[in-house]
Amino acid sequence: MTLDPKDWPAFRKAAHDMLDMAMDKLEHAKDGRTWTPVPEDLKTKINTPFPTSGIDYQDISEQLTNIMPYGPGNTHPRFFGWVNGAGSPSNLLAEIAGGAMNVNAGGRNHIAPVIEKQVIAWAAQIMGMPEDSSGLIVTGTSMATIIALKAARDYYLKQHETAQSDMCLIGYTSEQAHSCIGRAFDMLGICKNNLRKIACNDAFEMDIDALKAAIAKDRADGNMPFAIIGTAGAVNMGAIDDLDALADICAAQDLWFHVDGAFGAAAILAPQAKARLQALARVDSLAFDFHKWWQVNYDAGCVLIRDPLIHRQAFARRPEYLRGGERGLWGGDFWAVDYGPELSRGFRALKVWTHLKTHGINAIADVIERNIHQAQYLEVRVKTETKLEMLAPVPLNICCFRYNFKTDNDAKNTELVIRLQESGIAAPSTTTIHGQTAIRVNITNHRTRESDLDLLIDTILEIGGSLETVI
Ligand SMILES: *Cc1c(COP(=O)(O)O)cnc(C)c1O
Repeated sequence: MTLDPKDWPAFRKAAHDMLDMAMDKLEHAKDGRTWTPVPEDLKTKINTPFPTSGIDYQDISEQLTNIMPYGPGNTHPRFFGWVNGAGSPSNLLAEIAGGAMNVNAGGRNHIAPVIEKQVIAWAAQIMGMPEDSSGLIVTGTSMATIIALKAARDYYLKQHETAQSDMCLIGYTSEQAHSCIGRAFDMLGICKNNLRKIACNDAFEMDIDALKAAIAKDRADGNMPFAIIGTAGAVNMGAIDDLDALADICAAQDLWFHVDGAFGAAAILAPQAKARLQALARVDSLAFDFHKWWQVNYDAGCVLIRDPLIHRQAFARRPEYLRGGERGLWGGDFWAVDYGPELSRGFRALKVWTHLKTHGINAIADVIERNIHQAQYLEVRVKTETKLEMLAPVPLNICCFRYNFKTDNDAKNTELVIRLQESGIAAPSTTTIHGQTAIRVNITNHRTRESDLDLLIDTILEIGGSLETVI
């Protein structure tokens, strides 16, 4: 008994049919509803006892096809919630090749480390970092941040071996920074309270004077500042910290310079934004996502670390059963397990490599540039509607505004967004700007067109109008 098909021709047919289903979905990604809630009867059908015996390939293909309409909707051009990439059809090719290979990319001497190293070298080059920077393709920026800050922490503690304990290491980031940074501090045992959240200026960028004052105070109090975490593309409205100023402070004060560029670092490809991202060339480490603005399918993030030795020292501790060698399958000069917490891991780099090769950087740059223009277009549309009001500037690809109700603006704007999502027409999310609920429209999608934004505004005005009288 093996798990190979008993009837290969039948499996081949089912697989070809499945591929056709996938093609149909992607060829029509612009049509239909944005988000569709999972129907109750489908949930009931899925809630079965665990399967003891199998079904044939045709049946499982049919069941897969039945679940396909019920994702979050981020392949649709009017998905504007949070920061989600749309992915691209070319990913199917990589997933099929990768699925057939079933590679464990944790280490050893085979093609996966070769591809992964190449992708990392390209990424470093694009970001302006040294070509021999080290890195890893990981699930996303959350994991990339943990890896980068572990390298920073270990390096800093080694440099200051005589100092007391690591419990008073202090990091600095802005009030607009993503929650994954606090979580990384927590998981690394640095303690969440040791992350100072520095106030922002009117543009929602970290206030440099407040940062300097906070560092000086910590030093005076006997604490050990060790890292500044800048943000390139803050999740609420896309603000980019003054990265050069942060790099200067890190250089002058011997601090680690990490940047969270989850989606925003990609804007280094866009003529409109690249000047504000040049200082990425100065980071000690960078975390960003291929699955957001780069349009690689989930999941694919990346950590880059300027000094490969520091990166290795944070993770490389291989016991005897993972021994490497000069020759044979246990050879290979890049074992991912030496650069991160995971041993067994999939061949994520393959889909990034396939994506970059298929489309080329120029096409991805065009998407990013266009999305930035579209956010500006949306801002203009909001400003011309008397019922709508901007709540934040638009430095990149995110537009935060609200419908101006006479009363209960927060509750009604939340209700407006829920109704919009439920209508299937568009799916923005909400956030809070200066204590006020905003309709938040993020555009990181190669399928979005201006007409989608027009439909969004029209529908918001319509739902807003009906809410004015109802509640
Ligand atoms: C999405 C995001 C993260 C988290 O990245 P994941 O890939 O979801 O782990 C961190 N920071 C910012 C600014 C983000 O937009």
